[in-house]
Amino acid sequence: MVDSCLKAKFCGPSVTVASLYHQSQERITIVQDGGELLLEENGRILSTFSLLPRPRFWNFQTRSGIPCRRLANFYGANCLNFNIYSGCQFYDVGKPCRFCSVKPTQNRHGQVEIRKLPQDLADTCHLAVEHDDVQWYLATGGSYLDSDVEFDRHMEVARAVRDVLPWNGRLRGNLSMMPPRDLGRLAQMHEIGVDHPSFNLEAWPETAFAFFCPGKSQYVGFDHILTAYDSLVSLYGPGKAWCNFVAGLTPLDDLLAGFTAMAERGVIPGANVFHPDVGSPLGMSIPSPNADYIVAAYNGAAKLYHRYGYKPFFDASVLRNSLANEAYEGLL
Ligand code: SF4
Repeated sequence: MVDSCLKAKFCGPSVTVASLYHQSQERITIVQDGGELLLEENGRILSTFSLLPRPRFWNFQTRSGIPCRRLANFYGANCLNFNIYSGCQFYDVGKPCRFCSVKPTQNRHGQVEIRKLPQDLADTCHLAVEHDDVQWYLATGGSYLDSDVEFDRHMEVARAVRDVLPWNGRLRGNLSMMPPRDLGRLAQMHEIGVDHPSFNLEAWPETAFAFFCPGKSQYVGFDHILTAYDSLVSLYGPGKAWCNFVAGLTPLDDLLAGFTAMAERGVIPGANVFHPDVGSPLGMSIPSPNADYIVAAYNGAAKLYHRYGYKPFFDASVLRNSLANEAYEGLL
């Protein structure tokens, strides 16, 4: 039986990373054969695989004495990942995103620092670059009631870490947040060197966004997010800003309409596949989408990437699955 949230690195000509989630109807099993791990379906071996290694920078601590494993991790094989604030104020007002389990997970495990200082994150980035393979960067926010405060925190962190990361002052990857009220401030993000900002909408159309993300809807607003994307496209040009959706929350046609609307605006759409999270408001009330939905969603995105000259997020070694990249290459 596949353990929940197991991340596996499959062997092959290139590295592909997948998160496997346990489902009661799961047919795929993990088998240990001597020193090798195998994925089997109905007795047929699908692939060998290996678990992602423990980050080496986790053996160290910051100059202020915080263990680095409490500050950052790897998303997939080589994307250095942290939340600048690992709480979420939308929970405090009873309006978390319905698919999210951030706070219950923190309460249950308490394994990360909730509030992270820029200097501690800079120390952590420095140690990760020194001891591990860092190819990408992902910093997430999106969890403050006041998105101006969130923006300031993100900019402080971006300024603190960019010179210790290996891209000559650029931030190669994604900075995910909600937009500030004054969209003129977005120019700072461009000047600081953030390559791919995003203000993830998660669900489309507006009614679905308001239902699934009530906090973001009330405190930021669907229209403001779209206007902010238009500002990003003016600053960056088309095909740089990203917008993530949760595939499976809405009917496929709505998801594809959201993909198309964002692509036409100059924004690259992408998606994670919904899975029921323990402790989330939705709980088990919505199942994960089936394989047909998932394949159609990623092929729909890939069609837009080719039409507009976009590239899927990161590469196959990052994110929770490589489906966008596989669809882009015509493999689905
Ligand atoms: S997904 Fe929504 S509820 Fe969860 S941490 Fe982000 S903003 Fe908060």
